[in-house]
Amino acid sequence: EAKRDGRNRAVIFTWSMKEVFNRIHEVENGLRQAIEKGELALHFQPIFDLATGNIVTCEALMRWEHPRLGRVPPSEFIPAAERIGIIEQLSIWALREACTAAAEWPSDVRVAVNISPASLTSGELPRTVIATLLETGLPARRLELEVTESLFLEDNRHTSQMLRELQLIGLKLVLDDFGTGYSSLSYLRSYSFDTIKVDQSFMAAIGNSREDQAIIQAVSHIAKTLDMETVAEGIETEDQLRHAREAGFNSGQGFLLCPPQPRDRMSEVLAAGTGMPDALAPARPAAR
Ligand code: C2E
Ligand code: MG
Ligand code: MG
Ligand code: MG
Repeated sequence: EAKRDGRNRAVIFTWSMKEVFNRIHEVENGLRQAIEKGELALHFQPIFDLATGNIVTCEALMRWEHPRLGRVPPSEFIPAAERIGIIEQLSIWALREACTAAAEWPSDVRVAVNISPASLTSGELPRTVIATLLETGLPARRLELEVTESLFLEDNRHTSQMLRELQLIGLKLVLDDFGTGYSSLSYLRSYSFDTIKVDQSFMAAIGNSREDQAIIQAVSHIAKTLDMETVAEGIETEDQLRHAREAGFNSGQGFLLCPPQPRDRMSEVLAAGTGMPDALAPARPAAR
């Protein structure tokens, strides 16, 4: 049984190598023109205050519709953009799109833009951010930048100086996917983030893993002590929502509360009332 399995896998592997190679090639080539061709779009996923149920931030998530391949996931095209050296162009595009969209939203809702650590190396980001804020009229305090910790260079002077410059502009810095890197805790020491977003893998196992429960409680505690906000991402079930609340997380994001939405649906999502998912509604007083 195991043998047959192994052989099948080997066959599939050889067969798909060519496919994989062609796809990488097609993705990399298509990506170079994706912006000009208007194939990229931003979707937005609301992040809810777990105490009030209000939408506090909407995270911009890039979508790419390739004419032949169809929808290509960010987990595939973001690394491709880093490989071929155009991630900074994509970041600049996303920043402008996100700030333009957010400028039309209620003034108490922030927008969060994902920034690849690769975009931090050139040193241009603070200038780009300032130019974009001026151009779109979005106040700096309504912008958050999410930096994923996994590719961070430890104690890189360049990076920490740039992050400090960005904070001086007045925006908030979010450490994304917290807990997935090699030295999560040392990032907290080296860089001063405003918010920690705990990776969804911790949420995923929460119901049946005492270890993951203990970890998110500890992270929540550390964040409070260091004066940082906490976001739980990947909330898919009522159980996960309850655990996030019990651990004291400030806000939460996930398919249970609201999946990512196209830009033109956002005014509807943000309109009073419709943004409040049932799962977050305050419990009705028990009938007597
Ligand atoms: P991320 O920043 O951690 O974003 C959260 C991801 O989780 C998104 O995937 C979102 O659609 C997904 N998600 C939201 N709620 C749930 C849930 O309840 N369960 C599960 N399983 N997933 C949920 P998406 O849009 O595929 O993006 C994947 C990653 O690609 C992002 O992870 C981010 O690292 C990167 N990315 C997306 N857009 C951009 C961008 O504009 N720039 C850069 N540099 N990276 C981006
Ligand atoms: Mg993110
Ligand atoms: Mg994340
Ligand atoms: Mg993630």
